[in-house]
Amino acid sequence: MMGPVLNYINGEFVEAIDGATIDDINPATGETITTIPRSQAEDVDAATNAALAAQASWAATTLEERISWLYRIANALDAQSEEIALLESTDTGKPVSLARRVDAARSVENFRFFAQMGEQLQPTTFEDHGAINHVHRSPVGCVGLITPWNLPLYLLSWKVAPALLMGNTIVAKPSEMTPLTAKFLAKTLHALNFPAGVFNLVHGYGHEVGQAIVEHPHIRGISFTGGTATGKVVAATAAPMFKKLSLELGGKNATIVLDDAPLENIMDDVVRASFTNSGQVCLCGSRILVHASIAEQFKADFVQAVQRLKVGDPSDETTQMGSVISRDHQAKVESFIALGIEEGGRLLTGGTADQCPVQHVSPAGAFLHPTVIDGLSATSRTATEEIFGPVVTVHTFNDEDEAVQMANATAYGLAGSVWTADPERGHAFAKRIETGIVWVNTWLNRDLRTPFGGVKQSGVGREGGMWSIGFFSELTNICVQQS
Ligand code: NDP
Repeated sequence: MMGPVLNYINGEFVEAIDGATIDDINPATGETITTIPRSQAEDVDAATNAALAAQASWAATTLEERISWLYRIANALDAQSEEIALLESTDTGKPVSLARRVDAARSVENFRFFAQMGEQLQPTTFEDHGAINHVHRSPVGCVGLITPWNLPLYLLSWKVAPALLMGNTIVAKPSEMTPLTAKFLAKTLHALNFPAGVFNLVHGYGHEVGQAIVEHPHIRGISFTGGTATGKVVAATAAPMFKKLSLELGGKNATIVLDDAPLENIMDDVVRASFTNSGQVCLCGSRILVHASIAEQFKADFVQAVQRLKVGDPSDETTQMGSVISRDHQAKVESFIALGIEEGGRLLTGGTADQCPVQHVSPAGAFLHPTVIDGLSATSRTATEEIFGPVVTVHTFNDEDEAVQMANATAYGLAGSVWTADPERGHAFAKRIETGIVWVNTWLNRDLRTPFGGVKQSGVGREGGMWSIGFFSELTNICVQQS
């Protein structure tokens, strides 16, 4: 067993004050990897006190010094990116090749990207009535960063980098199911002699540690990525305290295949959009809407392509889909497959582990085959509720108006993709989809300068580029009369 994961508070690795722990399980094998602290409000309090004590000196560093720290962190992570990929794969059950290509690479890039953004920050001034208005950015103060299990270090670093850049101190909580790379980040900072107290990490359950972070009166901002139900609790707790709040929540994204889409060219991307990370990317397309005139051909080609995906051992370099995050999550996904059948759906491929077992994996692993369900109403529960697993439903439409109406018929509005031979047509169509991002003839193509976030129940606020800089700073105006 790996050595225990510890909290990182005031530059020291410590157990939870009461010594309680939680097991961290490898979902592909069912084996216990290590233990993590089951922290409580008193641990959050210690971390917050450390952050508050470090706040003034961190905020007093120059922007150039903080940029230099981000580059140093990026370089240190880059040098250890293979270890990050292995840890992420062990903790989440995702293929190591995916962890390398997406998780490790992006975690490094997040620090580099925000260092570069820092270099480009320009003072903003407005002159009027003989006075110059200087727009001033101060840090928010101590911020709470709460992240989910699907892209652990990718999403944590997406928040840590801009928070540090703008002079904030941090109390962070990763999902208790995926603590390893957050610990790795803390170890990396420690080895770099990063100033104590600026970055603090508290492990444990969401309803204990996460809730204590959101409730803490001295934590001034909360950046939360996770499910919509949890987001509601976070908002209800933080809003009356007037905290700055950014919520990146769930989705039920549509992949819309228009009648002119060149099926042969798009199939690999549509499969990728459906099943990357076992469908556990908030941006995955879990509802495929396809024009009736090409639906039969599409379904035949799609099912064939899905059946070619290699599901199995995450450490095998040729594996394309690993396990889901836990046996509990597997049961939740399976309950949606059963619901889909109950609601009148027909399995085109895949199914529950009993119906369609994954061969050559540990019987204790949380494995499912990619599953495609046809014949459901676009307003059924299976087609409108977030499953967050390797399950997609397929629906047909007869014209663009119907496709728009179907795409917008969920409570969510995070992402979507449109596939067509005509990019202009796709662009015009995309404007009618109520989501934070629409890709036309591409998927997961991310320019980090762009605004990122959801509409409707997929979130509040935007992160990315200048929007992250805005969230992690307080803007004030200083008006200086010139004469
Ligand atoms: P959860 O909402 O269950 O958890 C997210 C984080 O919040 C975890 O660290 C969790 O801790 C913590 N948490 C739980 N309860 C509370 C609370 N009361 N107060 C504060 N924090 C709390 O999400 P999942 O981890 O299951 O992640 C999957 C979800 O995340 C999906 O809905 C997915 O769509 C969404 N997501 C959204 C993204 C986006 O950018 N919009 C990106 C990635 C995922 P614990 O793990 O201990 O419960």
